[in-house]
Amino acid sequence: MAKLQLLVRLTPETELKFHICEEPRWFKPDHDGRGRVYALTPPLAADEVFFMRSQIEVMRGRLNWVWKKFAWPSAVVWLVRRRLGLAYPGYPVEVPESIYEQWRLDEEQRLELLSELKLLLDGRLLPDNLLEQALRASGWWPADIRRVLDWGLRMGVIECFPGVTKTSWGEARCMRCNSSVTEVRPCPFCGRPDCPICTTCDSLGPVRGCTRLWVLDKPERAGPLVPADDFQQLPKLHLDFELTPAQRRASSELVDFIHSDKKKVLVWAACGAGKTEVTFAAIQTALSRGSKVMFAIPRRDVVRELAERLRKAFPDTEIAVHYGGQPWQQQGQLTIATTHQALRFYRCFDLVVLDEVDAFPYHGSEMLRFAIKRSLTADGKLVEMTATPRSLRTSAVITIPARYHGWPLPEPRFLKIKLPELNQLADKGLPEQVVSIIESNQSPWLIFAPTVQAVKQLTKVLAAVLNRRVCGSWAADPQRDQKIADFASGEYQVMAATSIMERGITLADVQVMVLYSDHVLFDSNSLIQMAGRAGRKAEHPDGEVWFIGGRITDAMKTAQKRITYLNRQAAEQGLLKGVESR
Ligand SMILES: [Zn+2]
Ligand SMILES: [Zn+2]
Repeated sequence: MAKLQLLVRLTPETELKFHICEEPRWFKPDHDGRGRVYALTPPLAADEVFFMRSQIEVMRGRLNWVWKKFAWPSAVVWLVRRRLGLAYPGYPVEVPESIYEQWRLDEEQRLELLSELKLLLDGRLLPDNLLEQALRASGWWPADIRRVLDWGLRMGVIECFPGVTKTSWGEARCMRCNSSVTEVRPCPFCGRPDCPICTTCDSLGPVRGCTRLWVLDKPERAGPLVPADDFQQLPKLHLDFELTPAQRRASSELVDFIHSDKKKVLVWAACGAGKTEVTFAAIQTALSRGSKVMFAIPRRDVVRELAERLRKAFPDTEIAVHYGGQPWQQQGQLTIATTHQALRFYRCFDLVVLDEVDAFPYHGSEMLRFAIKRSLTADGKLVEMTATPRSLRTSAVITIPARYHGWPLPEPRFLKIKLPELNQLADKGLPEQVVSIIESNQSPWLIFAPTVQAVKQLTKVLAAVLNRRVCGSWAADPQRDQKIADFASGEYQVMAATSIMERGITLADVQVMVLYSDHVLFDSNSLIQMAGRAGRKAEHPDGEVWFIGGRITDAMKTAQKRITYLNRQAAEQGLLKGVESR
């Protein structure tokens, strides 16, 4: 967060050279001593000085012409001053030649520090505080670090930009997460009362206007290291399970994708079809080509769990695990990270596998979309995975239409019936038709309602009319895990729940009912997820699924269409058992 100055070097018969530098005395004139150096600005915060350079870039042609024609430093300097409208007294100034100082480090030490720097920045985007911290931890002095940063910058090895940049139309934009920044705060680092700070990607540490973000100028590894046809050493892949026929087919299609020149593919798996394992062969293929691979997932607990599985599957591969609170320095050929952590990487991965693209937080997040795209190399490939695609138009699609047990997905049935208003549920109760659906099936029922309030009332109503034990739970319920366990063990026969609980409950022989399925909170995705709770276990591969509401919404129709489509696909591919019997 050093203060920076914009300098220009004026050498006869050559173009003007602008440079942003922390210390004018590091910026030597030409070897023959003919050049003259001018400081065009006083020391400023990064965003200000980069903005000024962009202002001058616009008139670079004119300045060069003036310099070549007249070779008057004062003419160039005057034009710049006018363009920038600099009110600071005394700028631009000529930097006296006597101040150029010698290095404290010798050549070898400098190169050592630079190569350490390059290693840290390999595939990463780092703010100066993290970079400096890491280098200081390995024994370098701050003054030397800053000078080597400047040196590397001038040699074109590394590149930097302000953390929050200012555009000519007055907008501030975060250069880490690409969101537009509206907040300014008094800043202890640059001393300004109105330093812009990004609040969107704050969870990874602050990025301000006076922060510099560092990257490698030309990432050295562009694309795979090994040519595509060289498969001498496949990294060891150890699987302690066998893929189902549906998974095998998808797995080999994904390997074909790695060999192809396609950039993006969508893996659409039925709920409970097991999509993670399907990527392993593709990851193995990519690793064998020297590619760097990232597996990105929204949730932190899943990252840890997946890391365990991948460590077992790829025992010889170096694996880095990134989520909030983990040290960022970890390097590995295979990276497993929360989607947010993609913000830390810069043109790093040749293959990114992105799970649950249609769920929070990735879906609808411009920031994460941007981050994933930037974490890929120029030829990088993206595999998106989902159980609930929002759109099938965008890219190539690989489906895993059948569950591991090979039985079709239970298809939802609709019941259009007037249910009481949500707040009158307790007084009016459920229509008899709904109650009789539940009573006619003695298996456990998972009954969804849109709000916590509705779940609480529904629990009472059901307990009153049914001759079974009923519990209700929702995401923030402190006894949630206990209730799920009791429901699984048969302690309760009916459970009412909000759709927040839709993911991650795998119970045997459960029947599913979605009440108020026409409610705005239920989109086609959550309906598919809720329906997907039924029939997951091989012992009870079938189950009833009911969508019940006052209207048949588009979301309900889409959900039903997607589920029947997958069943049809599975049947066509010969992946289903018991199709004839249905
Ligand atoms: Zn940001
Ligand atoms: Zn600041």
